[in-house]
Amino acid sequence: MAARPIDRIDTSAAFTAEDVAALNARYADASTADVLRAVLVEGVAGRAALVSSFGAESAVLLHLVSGIAPDAPVLFLETGKHFPETLAYRDTLIAHLGLTGVINLTPDAEVLAKKDDAGLRWSYDPDGCCEIRKVIPLAKALAGYDASVTGRKGFQAETRAGLPIFELDTTDAAGRLKINPLIDWNATRLAAYMDEHDLPRHPLVAQGYPSIGCMPCTSKVAPGEDPRSGRWRGWDKTECGIHVEGAASNISDLPPGYEPAF
Ligand code: SF4
Repeated sequence: MAARPIDRIDTSAAFTAEDVAALNARYADASTADVLRAVLVEGVAGRAALVSSFGAESAVLLHLVSGIAPDAPVLFLETGKHFPETLAYRDTLIAHLGLTGVINLTPDAEVLAKKDDAGLRWSYDPDGCCEIRKVIPLAKALAGYDASVTGRKGFQAETRAGLPIFELDTTDAAGRLKINPLIDWNATRLAAYMDEHDLPRHPLVAQGYPSIGCMPCTSKVAPGEDPRSGRWRGWDKTECGIHVEGAASNISDLPPGYEPAF
């Protein structure tokens, strides 16, 4: 079946695989800035929000966005477990880039009290901890949007290699889009962009952290190691869950106080 023309995409309805194919075809040769302009200004994906970790390479996407739509919603998962340096870096980038749409998403206090009162769930059940502190807060927030924009790059991990720019968000069945405008960028291009625009660096990169998540689950990486090998070191876990198929099924519409199934 032929893909529908982009102009006929009904952004008030769930996106389909045909919509995704049409968008990828249309923007196959577009620049990263043109993709962002189409999404954040022209609204080809409906209501869209960025999701940023304010990590090692986040400044590149945020800088591109600041030149196109500085008021775009930027969702930050304030898990309560970040390095103080990450929170300071978030504030530095907001001020430096003039971002006015950053939204801090925090875990539900009632759920935290019931399921992680000691704050140590990460040490014996990191999947459950990520569900409380990342997956559920993001799913609730994204229920108000048609698409999310990620900073994922193909070189970062096997699970990210070969991803398209536009894909269906399979974390739930809402028919939302997930957009990966930097998926083809490599480390050299990212570094060159940061140099060219003199962007502030996350202070932990120079200390041996090429990939930065929550403090308890991020360790230094030795030269030659996979950049994400310091994440959840010692666990059979490579992603926090916000990109895992089905991770948010049936939880995006639940009210505050929802109890995870563990
Ligand atoms: S990365 Fe670690 S501390 Fe952060 S939410 Fe996941 S398990 Fe918890």
